[in-house]
Amino acid sequence: MRKQFANFIRTALLAICVAAIASPAWSQNADTILVNGKILTVDSQFSIREAIAVRDGKITAVGSNADIRKQAGPQTRVIDLRGRTVIPGLIDSHIHAIRAGQTFTTEVNWVGATSIVEAMNRIREASLAKKPGSWLIVAGGWQPQQFKEKRRPTQTDLVAAAPNNPVYVQHDYDWEVMTPAGFAAMGINSEADLPRPGKLERDASGNPTGAIEDVAGFDVAIALFEKLPHPTFDEQVEGTKKFFREMNRLGVTGVGDPGGNNLNPENYQPLFKVWRQHQLTLRIAYSLCGSTPGKEFEELKSLTQMLPEGFGDDMLKFNGLGERLTWGMNNNDYPTTEDKETYYQIVRWAAQKGMPVTMHWPKDETADTLLSIYERVNAEFPIADLRWSVAHLTNASVQNLQRMKAMGVGWTIQRPNAASVENAKELGVNMGAGTDAHRVASYNPFTALQWSLVDSKNAGGVHRGPDQTPTREDALRAYTIGSAWFSFDEKKRGSIEPGKLADLAILTKDYMTVPADQIGSIESLLTMVGGKIVYAAGPYASLEKDSQAPKR
Ligand SMILES: [Zn+2]
Repeated sequence: MRKQFANFIRTALLAICVAAIASPAWSQNADTILVNGKILTVDSQFSIREAIAVRDGKITAVGSNADIRKQAGPQTRVIDLRGRTVIPGLIDSHIHAIRAGQTFTTEVNWVGATSIVEAMNRIREASLAKKPGSWLIVAGGWQPQQFKEKRRPTQTDLVAAAPNNPVYVQHDYDWEVMTPAGFAAMGINSEADLPRPGKLERDASGNPTGAIEDVAGFDVAIALFEKLPHPTFDEQVEGTKKFFREMNRLGVTGVGDPGGNNLNPENYQPLFKVWRQHQLTLRIAYSLCGSTPGKEFEELKSLTQMLPEGFGDDMLKFNGLGERLTWGMNNNDYPTTEDKETYYQIVRWAAQKGMPVTMHWPKDETADTLLSIYERVNAEFPIADLRWSVAHLTNASVQNLQRMKAMGVGWTIQRPNAASVENAKELGVNMGAGTDAHRVASYNPFTALQWSLVDSKNAGGVHRGPDQTPTREDALRAYTIGSAWFSFDEKKRGSIEPGKLADLAILTKDYMTVPADQIGSIESLLTMVGGKIVYAAGPYASLEKDSQAPKR
């Protein structure tokens, strides 16, 4: 018996030795090295290095060309950066990416269009690709200031571009324009047929212009959008993959997704399918909204019963509640006592369960309503370790930032509302950058870096003094490791340091030295997620053939 056992051990050891010699997995050589670059590591010193080594999806070393070349073996892929700038993969801390993906292949988008003419050309092209009578939809993501005409499209523009299709164009959540075919297809014959509190916009002579206004914002756009045809499940799966690749094209490797309007629990299935197929190319940390008015608490309790905090993997994970917990506290600066009490009960329960919460709150002037509830909960169940956050908070005052800091609450910043970023930095409030795309803004992180952060101007003019304009280093920090904090990932990603996931982007221009007004035109030439190349173009295009999704 003992002899048999000894034989078994000897055979097993021999097998291990043979495997060790035969398998390259045992070697310490890098899978990939990137050399001759300007690597913005975004470590605590913001060190700039020449080269990176990657093995098994992680960064194993960062340093000089000579040091990193020593890690290369005969099988190692060598990427010559030729002086190009490399950044950690960008992380948008607040983007409705799941929703944007579902309609990406079926909607028309105006991201990057610089004139009404170009925007109308995109409508025309889409109309030629679709059957007459099928809807053409632009569901936000544009601003009149991006067009050289500095105006919104008119119904006449749209009819000329697509005479044979109903067209729906949404601006933010407060204005929509449709063609007569669109009104007919929705069965809207007069103002009385509009969702409340919608009004037909009228010109100086009192004639309807074809646009619909909602001075209060949100409800009309949400209701109209619900009336539009929804993409099929397969179209949503396809759109999700394509949208995530589009984000990769812009150097984005991770997002915080706060749910949002027109996105209910059943709408997550296309995303889950892409995840199951191992085809996610963006890391997603998603939070859950309350969906049904009056039933939010029961819903959230029921849905999270099987979702332990942090559940998931490095590609997809559950990250608590938000950005809308209840309809009563959603875009409502003056909620009733009852609305506040319901909200308090939910966040108290979330704190007790150890869940993160992110909350949509646009106005600093009324943020006391929200922060008082956070403080009431914090006194019972300290939330400092739960990484709660407030999204938006335009012109956050020092006083409100101090209250947030005292509780360990972070701030996700988007668009030109980042008007007090230097105050927040001084106070030590955790900040994550992002876009809030795609209905209310473009998803392009570089235009966000330019307009909301580095450049004190935006398309609408000067919006902030130099005293609140962050350095390029700090803006990049907010868009990488700053955003990683909100999903408890700052030790795993958000900077290029040994031991971290190999998420990075090689840029078309040097983010550090290009004139500020050109930052918005930067793109990625190669994007890596977990060591896999998920996007490559130009000189690196041939490297993308290994298009397997990152390990999870
Ligand atoms: Zn929001």
